[in-house]
Amino acid sequence: MHYDWLVVGSGLFGAVFAHEAKKRGKTVLVAERRAHTGGNLYCEEREGIRIHAYGAHIFHTSDENVWNYMRALSAFNHFLNSPVANYKGELFSLPFNMHTFYQMWGVVTPAQAHERIEAQRGESQFEPGNLEEQAIALVGRDVYEKLVKAYTEKQWGRPCDKLPAFILKRLPVRYTFDNRYFSDPYQGIPEEGYNAVIKKLLNGCTLMLNTDFNLQRDALMNLARRVLYTGQIDAYYDFRFGALAYRSLRFETERLETQNHQGVAVMNYTDAQTPFTRMIEHKHFEFGEQPYTYITREYPLEWNVGAEAYYPVNDEENQALYARYEALSKKEPHTVFGGRLAQYRYLDMDKTVAAALELAEKELV
Ligand SMILES: Cc1cc2nc3c(=O)[nH]c(=O)nc-3n(C[C@H](O)[C@H](O)[C@H](O)COP(=O)(O)OP(=O)(O)OC[C@H]3O[C@@H](n4cnc5c(N)ncnc54)[C@H](O)[C@@H]3O)c2cc1C
Repeated sequence: MHYDWLVVGSGLFGAVFAHEAKKRGKTVLVAERRAHTGGNLYCEEREGIRIHAYGAHIFHTSDENVWNYMRALSAFNHFLNSPVANYKGELFSLPFNMHTFYQMWGVVTPAQAHERIEAQRGESQFEPGNLEEQAIALVGRDVYEKLVKAYTEKQWGRPCDKLPAFILKRLPVRYTFDNRYFSDPYQGIPEEGYNAVIKKLLNGCTLMLNTDFNLQRDALMNLARRVLYTGQIDAYYDFRFGALAYRSLRFETERLETQNHQGVAVMNYTDAQTPFTRMIEHKHFEFGEQPYTYITREYPLEWNVGAEAYYPVNDEENQALYARYEALSKKEPHTVFGGRLAQYRYLDMDKTVAAALELAEKELV
């Protein structure tokens, strides 16, 4: 036993936990499957522009403790996400707010917008039976048709009337001219970049890159007294009950010889004809002024075992399957589980940090 802890996965969860363990005088070995640390926060730097390699990552939180924790690692810039929807060349503000309603119908007061949406909501007394009914009940037919339908169908690879209503628990509708995507008081991008944050967190740990824990479990487990596992929980158990379903993504990045391609960091393509869902222009996260730019098109993808797992499909069937794996994980004598893949749930970065700190408090005595 050379180490107190083996941390499997160097994403935000693993890195925060490893940092806390080091702080408490523990020795930590970090095993990471990829060729780099940072999990999905990882950015690839090209010509002074940091490219969010696994999808756009914007830090936002209402949790003051988490904000202070992050700010001790890096200053944050004042980026606020205000994405734009592109429907066949017509542009709309997101999330749905008075700008959107003005663009959609020419209405200028909240009362007019409210009246339009109410008239389209339908009078059904029944619980929405699918995502289409749910969306129309929340935002009315016009907004649904232009801004929700095709985007959601591309994302999930199925028609909205075949998707469960719970996917859209809510769709924020604001009757103000406020197009900040997140309403949290603390938001931004680390000024030194996410990679620098992760590097600070992992400082003092021994790192093994290109190391898939599940391919050399026994050898790695013999190196440490305790294990934190942040990979896919079904993979830990060799998929013995079957694989948990995910949606995947494919990214296509291009350098363009222009200073400013789309004028915003995130543009959602909400029509059915455009095969990608979003186009990211990375320089806008950091107010870059280079004479060139890098954009990334984000294509939703069917997921198969072995592909990158992005969004868990938390339907009843998969939740029941997860519960079986979770029950096994509770009986592990030396291993604890954490993070979005081990817990089979979508977790924002702030929730990830909070959960890792909570686990550290519990496990690191
Ligand atoms: C497309 C997308 C966009 C997002 N945007 C935002 C955003 O704007 N704001 C926000 O707050 N959150 C966002 N998130 C959520 C954010 O990515 C997560 O909060 C964060 O990545 C969780 O960290 P993690 O360590 O749990 O998981 P991950 O980042 O996935 O890290 C897990 C790590 O474990 C490694 N690993 C897995 N299996 C093994 C194994 N068997 N052996 C060794 N290593 C292994 C992986 O390679 C990876 O490095 C987004 C997520 C996605 C998918």
